[in-house]
Amino acid sequence: MAKDVYDVAVLGGGAAGMMAAIQAAQNGASVLVTEGNECLGKKILATGNGKCNLTNENMDSKFYYGANHTFIKRVLDGFSLSQTLAFFRSIGIEPVKEDELYYPRCKQAAVVVAMLEEKLMSLGVTVVLNTRVRGIEKDENGIFHVKTTGDDIVSNSVVLALGGKASAIKGSNGDGYYYGKQLGHEIVPTAPALVQLHTDHRGIKDMAGVRCHSELSLFVDDACVGKETGELQLTDYGISGIVVFQLSRMASVALTSGKHVSMQIDFLPEYDSCELMELLERRFEQLRPQMSVADALWGLLNHKVAIGVLKECGIAPDKGVGECGRDDIYRLCQIMKAFHMVITDTHGFKNAQVTAGGISTDHIDPNTMESKICPGLYIAGEILDVDGICGGYNLQWAWSSGALAGEYAAKEKK
Ligand SMILES: Cc1cc2nc3c(=O)[nH]c(=O)nc-3n(C[C@H](O)[C@H](O)[C@H](O)COP(=O)(O)OP(=O)(O)OC[C@H]3O[C@@H](n4cnc5c(N)ncnc54)[C@H](O)[C@@H]3O)c2cc1C
Repeated sequence: MAKDVYDVAVLGGGAAGMMAAIQAAQNGASVLVTEGNECLGKKILATGNGKCNLTNENMDSKFYYGANHTFIKRVLDGFSLSQTLAFFRSIGIEPVKEDELYYPRCKQAAVVVAMLEEKLMSLGVTVVLNTRVRGIEKDENGIFHVKTTGDDIVSNSVVLALGGKASAIKGSNGDGYYYGKQLGHEIVPTAPALVQLHTDHRGIKDMAGVRCHSELSLFVDDACVGKETGELQLTDYGISGIVVFQLSRMASVALTSGKHVSMQIDFLPEYDSCELMELLERRFEQLRPQMSVADALWGLLNHKVAIGVLKECGIAPDKGVGECGRDDIYRLCQIMKAFHMVITDTHGFKNAQVTAGGISTDHIDPNTMESKICPGLYIAGEILDVDGICGGYNLQWAWSSGALAGEYAAKEKK
C-alpha cells in the first residue's frame, strides 16, 4: 500500500516543532510531528521553574549569542514579540508581564503545552510519540524519507526541530546535529550555556548553602568580559543563580577553547571601596575590642561568607576587633569587594538550560528558515547556532524560528 505523503514532517515536538506544526497546518498543509518522548513539550514543562517564562518585553538580537546577529534580528522581526503574544492569546493563553518577563496568566507551563496540543489536534495534525528519528534522506524527486524507530515518514518538506544537547533527560541529546551535518550543514562547536560554574576554591565550598546579593565580574585571560548583579548562590561545587547563568555562556565557550577563566565576587556592591573602609573602621571602633572580628561582621555579611572572607585575608576569625589594625581592615575591604576564584568547569550539558553553538546559520534563509544547501529542509529552534540569555529569550527564539519554518514549509505542498 502506498504510504501517505505529508506536506510537512516536523521532527521534534518541542517548542519550535509544535509552533512550526501549527503554522504549517494553519497554512493548509498536511502535517505530521514525530517526537521521541512519551509526550510533547517536555522541556517547556521545566521552563521558568514550571511557570514558563514565554518571552520578554525587551526583545532585541543583542540579548542573543551566535555567529550572525543580522540573521537573528531578521528571524525575530519575521515573527515578532507582538505576533507571539497574539498567537498565544489566539490559542487561549493570556500572557502577563512580571517586570519585563512574560508568563501565562495561570503561571503553569503544563497549560502552555496543553493548549499547544489542543491547537495541533484542532488543526488535524498527526502526532506520533515515542518515535525517534533515525535518518533523513531526500530522493531525486525532492521527496524526503525519514527513518524512525516506528514507521518511516514520507514528506515534501521537513522541519528539523530536534533541539540541542542541554538537559538531555528531557529528550534532546544532540541527535539533530548529526542529521544537519549529514544534509550538508556545518556545526559550530557546542558548549553548555545558562549553567552553573565550578571552582576548586575551598573558601567558596565552605560558603555552600548561602544566597547573597553580589556583583560578579567574569575574567577571560585576565580581561573583564562581563558583569552581573543579583542573587548569587554558593554551592559545594561552585556558584549558581541567574547572575551566574547570565555570564556562564562566555565562561563555557572560553573554557572549551582552553582559555583561563576566573570570577570575582563583590559581596557588597552597594558600597564603593572608600565607603566600605569607613564603614568597617567605624564599626570596629564602636564595638567591644574583645569581640571577634567574625562576630563584628554580623549584620553586614552572612556568617559563612564572613568566615570565608576572613580566611581569604589570612585573618583569624576569632581575632579581637581591638587587635585589628588599619592594614587588616584594608585587606578585609579588598577581599569583600573582590573575592577571586578560578573557574574550572561548567556543571555540564546535563544541567544547562541551553546549548551554545549548533547548526551554522550561514546557509539558512532567515526569512523562511529554509536550508540553502538542501531545499525543502527547514531548521528551527535551539538546534541552530543561536542562544539567548535568561528571561524568555530562548523560547522566543523557538517560537519565532518555528513559526517561520512552519509557514514556509507549508508552501512546499504539492
Ligand atoms: C530547566 C530549563 C528551564 C528553562 N527555562 C526557560 C525559560 O523560562 N524561558 C526560556 O525562554 N527558555 C527556557 N529554557 C530554554 C528553552 O526551554 C529551550 O531553549 C527551548 O525549549 C528549545 O526548544 P526546541 O523546540 O528548539 O528544543 P527542545 O525543546 O529540546 O525540543 C526538541 C524535541 O525534539 C525531540 N527529539 C530530540 N531528538 C529526537 C529524535 N532523534 N527523534 C525524535 N525526537 C527527538 C526531543 O525529545 C524534544 O522534545 C529552559 C530550559 C531548561 C532545560
